[in-house]
Amino acid sequence: MNDFTAPAPHPSTRASRGVALFRDHGDDIEPLSHGRYQVPGCSGGCYVVDLAVFGGEESCDCPDHRHHPETACKHIHAAIMYRARVRMASRKARSPRYGAAAVAANLARMGA
Ligand SMILES: [Zn+2]
Repeated sequence: MNDFTAPAPHPSTRASRGVALFRDHGDDIEPLSHGRYQVPGCSGGCYVVDLAVFGGEESCDCPDHRHHPETACKHIHAAIMYRARVRMASRKARSPRYGAAAVAANLARMGA
């Protein structure tokens, strides 16, 4: 066993909740225009995350982020993971190993 793993100081951080949100609802994230994403919340509603592609700071309209604007809420974490996944898909599109059709099917499956 590898016992060098540091214990997590906070078992349920916003980042880890963002990972869980992306794992469970990543396919339900909808890209909007100008770097904004509609991210489903746990209680059924949706929040709009702005990843500030034109500068400024990332924001989300959920209550958590309103009360703690200095930290990224789980929706922002999930939107960043979503954006990374889309970017990876478009990088593959430029690689000769992956045809554009395959990537388009991939994006369609992701709801992009
Ligand atoms: Zn949020």
